[in-house]
Amino acid sequence: MPSQPGDGRLYIDGAFVPAASGRTGVVEEKATGKPIGSYALGSAADIDRAVAAARAAQPAWGALSAPERAGYLRAFCGYLEAHREELVEQSMRETGGVRAKAEDEVGTSIKQLALSAVQVGENAGDILPPYKAGKLSLSRAVPLGVLGLITPWNYPMNLAMRALAPGLAFGNTVVLKPAELTPVIGGQVLAAAADHAGLPPGVFNVVTGDGPDAGWPLARHQGLDMLDFTGSREVGLAIDRAAAGELRDIRLELGGSNAFVVLDDADIEVAANCAMIASLEFQGQTCISASRHIVQRAVADDYLDALTRRAAALTVGDPFDPGTALGPLISAAQRDRVHRTIVEPSLAMGARLVTGGTYDGLFYRPTVLAGVTPQMPAFREEIFGPVIPVTVVDTEAEAVALTNGLPMLMNSVFTRDLVRGLSVAEQLQAGEVHVNDAHARHGAENQMPGFTRRQWIGLQRTPLNFPDWATAPATQES
Ligand code: NAD
Repeated sequence: MPSQPGDGRLYIDGAFVPAASGRTGVVEEKATGKPIGSYALGSAADIDRAVAAARAAQPAWGALSAPERAGYLRAFCGYLEAHREELVEQSMRETGGVRAKAEDEVGTSIKQLALSAVQVGENAGDILPPYKAGKLSLSRAVPLGVLGLITPWNYPMNLAMRALAPGLAFGNTVVLKPAELTPVIGGQVLAAAADHAGLPPGVFNVVTGDGPDAGWPLARHQGLDMLDFTGSREVGLAIDRAAAGELRDIRLELGGSNAFVVLDDADIEVAANCAMIASLEFQGQTCISASRHIVQRAVADDYLDALTRRAAALTVGDPFDPGTALGPLISAAQRDRVHRTIVEPSLAMGARLVTGGTYDGLFYRPTVLAGVTPQMPAFREEIFGPVIPVTVVDTEAEAVALTNGLPMLMNSVFTRDLVRGLSVAEQLQAGEVHVNDAHARHGAENQMPGFTRRQWIGLQRTPLNFPDWATAPATQES
């Protein structure tokens, strides 16, 4: 391997190089705080070089035949497959996620590459109905050109891969700026894999660095044909405003405040099991985490009890310990945001702490808050931490109205009556709604095509397969 991931270099024009600034940052294992590598602190000069390399490489890459590009993708995929176990452990160290989360992240990335290698060999266009007799109308897919990708730290590898793999497959070249908290698993290992696969220089470039110094110059770069950004609403809004003034093409995948609706005829044990995954998987740090639980009064006490029994029994600790359900939060800043701007102010406004609400370093106890009202930050904000706020309503109509009041990506509704579930799902304004389930659609095979707004309704058809940690209703309180 020409470069060891974690050795603090950028990947530009097929070469592993230091940042123009000569500066590097430290990569830490989140559970221990130990240094496990370094990353180059890229800046506008490095972004300029990377975009220029991608521009120069694009015509030849786009001109390759589909089977030729698919061959490169298969080699890229083969490298990741051969290093799967190392990559899983790297993800666990760098993100603080447990093994199942890391396996999902790496496995989905590998699958995405394999799928894109197949998709590029399929139908490349359409014959359209002619607008007039005697005409023949054909459309074909052509590359956009140079893509810029800016990605977050929570699922760093597959959130890069979901745009990188189809982007490369269809003849685009790419400049990736991964999150500074996860630059190895989110960028450097992908550079090593692409290099090993023999991708032509400039086809894929990785510039690590922080948001303002490396991300912003990429977001604003006039040499891109499209910017794909996944991250917070705040940064997304800034990018949107800047792009609007310059007529640049961007695609934003942001966060929201997703709702988990428990109706008065729900199977409470199923809902509570599902809530553990929906709100606590990867410490609640996913864009599709359930951020507010809206529960009808008739079942509220039973639901709160079922949630609390489960949450209080979960083990928080080293993600490498197989008994651990929740690892550390990603950073002290993230912990302080959860505790000081969400939990403490909500308690001060009258919410009741049922369990949790304490932490040791980055290890935050799963927390259940009762009596949460729509005015509280625990209801209004995207939490991005292991907190379950419960809001009680009297009617189904109230649950629908409250859910629809905030931006969201994905909701769930729980009821024993599937027709009622579908009817409520249709009224909830989110890209994705689940009935008696959560997170069901998230695999490489189900990635939403980028340019449609579609509501997806997931029905739980087979018995839910929860990990043990989510299902054991325990008796001890921590
Ligand atoms: P973030 O916006 O702080 O950072 C995301 C990326 O943007 C990082 O690479 C960062 O370096 C970069 N960045 C930061 N400031 C920038 C700037 N001024 N200009 C350009 N780039 C900049 O978000 P985060 O904390 O890494 O991720 C959490 C957020 O991401 C949550 O809101 C979550 O909901 C969202 N998210 C959304 C999806 C989705 O698919 N919709 C998936 C995962 C995460």
